[in-house]
Amino acid sequence: SAGSHILESYTASYTATVVERLERAGAIIIGRCNMDEFACGSSTETSAFGVTKNPVDPTRVPGGSSGGSAAAVAAGFVPAALGSDTGGSIRQPASLCGIVGFKPTYGSVSRSGLIAMASGLDQIGPLATSVGDIAEIMRVIAGPDPKDMTTRLVEASFPEFGGSVKGLKIGVPRQFFDDALDPALAASVRAAIKTFVDHGAIEVPLDLPLLESALPIYYIVMPAEVASNLNRFDGLQYGTPVDGDSIMDQIRATRTEQLGTEVKRRILIGNYVLSAGYVDAYYKRAMALRSEMAAHLARAFESVDVIMGPTSPTIAWPIGEKFNDPLTMYLADIYTVVANLAGLPALSIPCGMVDGLPVGLQMMGARGADTTVLGAGWWYETSGK
Ligand code: GLN
Repeated sequence: SAGSHILESYTASYTATVVERLERAGAIIIGRCNMDEFACGSSTETSAFGVTKNPVDPTRVPGGSSGGSAAAVAAGFVPAALGSDTGGSIRQPASLCGIVGFKPTYGSVSRSGLIAMASGLDQIGPLATSVGDIAEIMRVIAGPDPKDMTTRLVEASFPEFGGSVKGLKIGVPRQFFDDALDPALAASVRAAIKTFVDHGAIEVPLDLPLLESALPIYYIVMPAEVASNLNRFDGLQYGTPVDGDSIMDQIRATRTEQLGTEVKRRILIGNYVLSAGYVDAYYKRAMALRSEMAAHLARAFESVDVIMGPTSPTIAWPIGEKFNDPLTMYLADIYTVVANLAGLPALSIPCGMVDGLPVGLQMMGARGADTTVLGAGWWYETSGK
C-alpha cells in the first residue's frame, strides 16, 4: 500500500522479483513494513497508517522513508528487511536506527514489483544488522531480470571479501563536512575514517563543489518523476473512486482525499518544473548538472576506491520536530542523494553514538563497485572496531 490511503484496499496482483528470489532461496517473508507515503519523506511520519517509532528511543523518528524496515530490524523482529532508496531511504533510517543499510548500484537489483517513486533514482536494497547479511541478500536478489531493463546496465557480482584495507584509498570530500553537519557527529565519522587510516588505508582529501548542488538538483529531478509516476493513482486504475459529476471531478476528489500533503507538495513542484516555460530553467538545468556531478564523481573514483562521510547530518530527532518544516526535513538527505543522482553503490554502517543515539558512516563506491564498498564495510565491522 506504499503508506498511502489511495492503495489501502489494493492487493498486489503479482510478486516482486526480489521477493520471488528470496523465497526461492529459502527466506521467509513475514510481512510488509510501514513507510513514508510513496517513499516521500525522511521520518516515516508521512505514512497514512501512523508513525513508526525508533526502537533505540521510541520518542524519536526512525528516519525514512524505509523507516518501518529499519525499525523492524533494529527491534530484532527480523534479521533483515528490504527497503527502497531514491534519495537515501535505506541508508538514512539504517543510520538513525543503528543498523546497516545498502543502496546498490542503480540497475543491479530488479525493481519489478516495486511501486515507482522516481524511476531514474529508485533502487531496492537490504537493511540488516551486519554487512555479512547484507552481502548474503545481495547475492540472492542482484542480477539481470528481463522485467527490469536497467538490470542490463551493470554486471553485479558479490564475491567473498578480502581481509585488509592496506592501501585502500579513501576520498573524503570537504563538502561532506559542511555547516549542516552536527559537530559531535562529525567527530564520530572522522574517528571511523581514522580507524581505516591507522590500518594502512590512505585518506585523500577531495574538493567536489558540485556536491553542494546535490540537494537542489535532487529536489527538482525527484518531484518531476514523482509527479509523472503518481499520475496513475487516480481512483480509476488504482484506489477507491470518490463520487463526482464528471471523470475529472472524480479524479480530483479522489486524489484530494486519498493522497497526503507531502505527496501533493511534490506533485505540485514536479508539474511546475516540468511545465512549458519552466522546464528549461529548472528540469533541464538540473538534469545537466546531475550529469556533470556524476562525471566529477566518476573522475574522483579514478584516484580513490571509496568515498566516505556521514550518512545523515543529525542523529534521530524527536517525533514531530520537523514534520511541519519541509525544508528542514529535506536537509536530512543532503549527503545521501549524491549516490542516487550518480547511480552509485552506498552503504551506511554504525560508527558510534552521540547522546545515546546511533551515528552512521556512509561509504560510496564507483558504479558497479558494490563489492569494494561492502568489503570496506565488512572490514570495519569485523576488524575495525
Ligand atoms: N528522504 C528523501 C525524500 O524525501 C528520500 C526518499 C527516498 O529515498 N525514498 O525524498
